[in-house]
Amino acid sequence: MNEWKKNLRNIEPYVPGEQSKDTDIVKLNANENPYPPSPKAIEAIKSFPAETLRLYPHADATPLKKAIADYYGVGVENVFLGNGSDDVIALSFQAFFNSELPILYPDITYSFYPVWCRLFDIPYETKPLGADFRINPDDYRGKNGGVIIPNPNAPTSICEGDAFIKKLMEYNGGSVVIIDEAYADFSRYSCVKLTKEYENLLVTGTFSKSRSLAGLRIGFAIGSKALISVLEAVKNSYNSYTVDALSIAAGIASVKDTEYFNATIDRIINTRTRLTDELRTLGFTVLDSGANFIFATYEGRNMRDMFEYLKTKKVFIRYFNLPRIDNYVRITVGTDEETDTLLREIKNYLGGK
Ligand SMILES: *Cc1c(COP(=O)(O)O)cnc(C)c1O
Repeated sequence: MNEWKKNLRNIEPYVPGEQSKDTDIVKLNANENPYPPSPKAIEAIKSFPAETLRLYPHADATPLKKAIADYYGVGVENVFLGNGSDDVIALSFQAFFNSELPILYPDITYSFYPVWCRLFDIPYETKPLGADFRINPDDYRGKNGGVIIPNPNAPTSICEGDAFIKKLMEYNGGSVVIIDEAYADFSRYSCVKLTKEYENLLVTGTFSKSRSLAGLRIGFAIGSKALISVLEAVKNSYNSYTVDALSIAAGIASVKDTEYFNATIDRIINTRTRLTDELRTLGFTVLDSGANFIFATYEGRNMRDMFEYLKTKKVFIRYFNLPRIDNYVRITVGTDEETDTLLREIKNYLGGK
């Protein structure tokens, strides 16, 4: 009876931040950019010759690779592209994490990593963050099947610098180290330059957050030719056309519009500073953020309760019912107006309870 059912995959998927059809909600729960994409990217989509969509896109998406390579000062052969950085990271797990030894990542981090490990049967081991929520590079010393760390880390928002990455690379000459830079543009620190020094360092990035293009799905990786060529081989064993023609066109326009990009990042960083300061004045503990979100708690207050309260006021933030962080909230930095609404509702909550 139902013999076939025993061969079905039973897996616990990643759960993204809630999406809502409501247009009047203040949506600060998925680290999306509150500002539109570059007007040049929008123009590239509007003027796109739609009749050419009958053709497959450029298999290697080379024109977009070239734009990214120029932006970061690396060669085209050092750039890999995918359908969002989740796609790029999932392919990297399959391409590089084939050891019997466990891969290592922090206990508090992007919750997609354990999902991919289970999907691809990759053994893993988590390393606890310090009491200050920082990653200790010494924990990543010794034999392992690979390392993946987001920088800035999520959801803590903390960004580490060159000294940290160099230490990590010195300890891990024997395995591939992936640095997930989904939020790096908001910290103005990137370790891409170190990929020239370390052949086993792969840096991943995305157009979803800093470039306001989460809806298009563009992700990339930068690394040595040795790593990138293996990623290409794995991708071409799976799906040759992961980046569509519209994404290629809009992506190139976005990368070339550095003026708009920098202005948007500046605005978000300014709002982040104001949000952090105001929350601290109210009595919150807010970690120093290098991302487009902040991670906060309030001693003696129930953050889950505040999260639920804000939801009833149509302000969506993120709460994780996980060990060590179950009294924290993660709040995406929105526009100044959204931030005003958020702060008003938080004050109402604190005053009313
Ligand atoms: C958002 C995010 C990603 C992936 O974003 P894509 O939209 O798939 O490009 C990867 N890593 C972290 C830590 C993220 O927060």
